[in-house]
Amino acid sequence: MPHRIGFIGLGIMGQPMALNLVKAGHALTVYNRTAEKTEPLKQAGARVASTPAAAAAHAEFVVIIVTDSAAVEEVVLGKDGILGSLESGAVIIDSSTISPQVSRRMACQVAGPGAAWLDAAVTGSKHGAEKGDLTFMVGGDRQTFERALPILQVMGKKHIYCGQNGLGLSAKLAQNTIQATLLEVFSEGLVLAAKAGVPPETMLEVLQSSLARSALTDFKTPFILKGDFTPYFPLKLMHKDLELAMEAAYAHQVTMPVLAAAKEVYSAAKASGKGELDYAAIITYLEDLAGVKVRSR
Ligand code: NAP
Repeated sequence: MPHRIGFIGLGIMGQPMALNLVKAGHALTVYNRTAEKTEPLKQAGARVASTPAAAAAHAEFVVIIVTDSAAVEEVVLGKDGILGSLESGAVIIDSSTISPQVSRRMACQVAGPGAAWLDAAVTGSKHGAEKGDLTFMVGGDRQTFERALPILQVMGKKHIYCGQNGLGLSAKLAQNTIQATLLEVFSEGLVLAAKAGVPPETMLEVLQSSLARSALTDFKTPFILKGDFTPYFPLKLMHKDLELAMEAAYAHQVTMPVLAAAKEVYSAAKASGKGELDYAAIITYLEDLAGVKVRSR
């Protein structure tokens, strides 16, 4: 059944997610801060709104996927935010990776006009968004999650209910902690081997024949060997997530020394101008320090 959906944020992830909803026959009204990015959606048949409030007016569902906590606060509570136009009974599906505390605060705010909030963090990156096979980690009321499933199923292949508001985000921050630290230490190993003189392809063969093999490193290695760091998930956003994970570690009094060390490496890489590249470019920071490159010959 087609639904009226407001969609806010047409970046790397939002653009293909919104297109999939239009292709599935839903009536979309989209908003993006930089107006030019709405053009492909307009051509696909979506309406374009000039404010978040206008995108959310009359919507049964509002999907948000913007950069960070401040951006979510702006599109929800700002001067033209959705809080001013939400209809009672509307469901907000926020797929931005933000602070779980901020997300819970948003859930309380939208309850005022009778709307419900789900934190619905995603993994699967740009490829998953394009193919409609993202994995969603969802926090919020279970009945609201079930109501939102027909929308989530257009954008993703797996939908994991994690519990109350904020717990989808807690799962996402834990997942990205593992992903970021894994790629960082994988990069350290590749740089060490290259500096010692092991050809990168040989090192790759060794890894693929060992228990150090992982889906992440299998996926990222061809890009690293080609030196292709086109941003699918920009390093600056992974850095943001590691900062959020550190905040969560403090809040829950969990000791995470490897996270703390990896965050510093991502901070230094970002400060050295690599923030706009894919987060696999963390290896280039280590390469610069070691004076070696891990590339196919
Ligand atoms: P992106 O390409 O940088 O897009 C960010 C979007 O947020 C853009 O539409 C941007 O608008 C909008 N935005 C930023 N600040 C805003 C503000 N103050 N008011 C209104 N709109 C604002 O990032 P992305 O890769 O799509 O990521 C979006 C979210 O998904 C992030 O929280 C990220 O951590 C998460 N995520 C990303 C991936 C991935 O692989 N890329 C995977 C999982 C989760 P403009 O176009 O005007 O800049």
